[in-house]
Amino acid sequence: MATAAVANKSPLPGTSNPHNPSKTTSSSTSSTRSTPSLSLTSHTVSSYTKERKVGEGTYAVVYLGKQTSTKRPVAIKEIKTGLFKDGLDMSAIREVKYLQELKHPNVIELIDVFATTNNNLNLVLEFLPCDLEVLIKDKSIVFKSSDIKSWMLMTLRGIHHCHRNFILHRDLKPNNLLISPTGLLKIADFGLARSLGNPNEDLSSNVVTRWYRAPELLFGAKHYTEAIDIWSIGIIFAELMLRIPYLAGKDDVDQLDVTFRAYGTPTEQIWPNVSSLPLYNALHVYPPPSRQELRTRFSAATDKALDLLILMTQLDPSRRCTSTQALLHEYFTEAPRPTAPELLPKVKEKKRAEIEDDSANSGNNSDALKRRRV
Ligand code: ADP
Repeated sequence: MATAAVANKSPLPGTSNPHNPSKTTSSSTSSTRSTPSLSLTSHTVSSYTKERKVGEGTYAVVYLGKQTSTKRPVAIKEIKTGLFKDGLDMSAIREVKYLQELKHPNVIELIDVFATTNNNLNLVLEFLPCDLEVLIKDKSIVFKSSDIKSWMLMTLRGIHHCHRNFILHRDLKPNNLLISPTGLLKIADFGLARSLGNPNEDLSSNVVTRWYRAPELLFGAKHYTEAIDIWSIGIIFAELMLRIPYLAGKDDVDQLDVTFRAYGTPTEQIWPNVSSLPLYNALHVYPPPSRQELRTRFSAATDKALDLLILMTQLDPSRRCTSTQALLHEYFTEAPRPTAPELLPKVKEKKRAEIEDDSANSGNNSDALKRRRV
């Protein structure tokens, strides 16, 4: 029986003030992966029961559980601390640190954190039984344009909250957008997140699952902004319309090729200083697509939807729209109105299990790339 817990209100060492990100003490480089000293309280694991395993990531096993006092279903994410010889994994620290700072209807709620006697850290999260990847893959469900608008709106509201608190998510993809039983979409998995601090500080470009990785990251940029998350959301927008991954590169080199075949190879004219980025060399030159080509590619999109997609996936990050500009875009005010969350399509339980088995066997790059260390 566990005897100690990390108080969910007390920030962990390294926690930044979102309004003063330069105070952050953790950094993106592995050299700073020192063992954190968590302040433990006498809170006990008996506050929760673990019922069954519902998933496993690279650094955690996730259980369906219950909060004993309220009977509320919860997800208990038990971090495999034994994996990391120098103490707690940075992903776990990041996830706790940022989720403590971010409270928003479209960001997953961290309810509690506790440690068991074997010193394993457990994150208690709201239980969210579905994700956007499962919905996209369920071809028995037809997406209305109002459904796509609703998921886009909730994703952008969630990321707007992160960005206004100077936090980059750095791993947005459909299976990190979880769906509540009432249809609310919530951004999850903050294991790669970090706060935007000193603009001169080097950041890792080895972030974001490959298919959703912005071109500046593919070119190895060490300085980047919120625009990397906007790119990912643009690619998710495209995937919601196409119902297949939009830019599915087989490896990092192929990802560059797939991206530039779709958007044209960036030149100094359209993206000043692009050629000074570390991995910019010997690229196959593709012409930029015409509006007509994009229109054919996304035949069901309205002009406004296409405009927003183009703004979110500008190759030059400084030309990409911000989350505020995206939320104010006319796409969200033109008809049809976004579907109310509770009326959005849902996956039947059996179907979900089939889709998840399929995903596990397909070698989808998201599993292979999960938890790249930064
Ligand atoms: P990863 O990011 O590697 O998928 P996670 O540890 O975040 O790892 O999650 C592993 C799996 O556990 C997810 O794919 C999902 O099926 C399940 N899961 C994670 N968080 C929740 C949650 N809050 N509610 C329900 N299931 C969850």
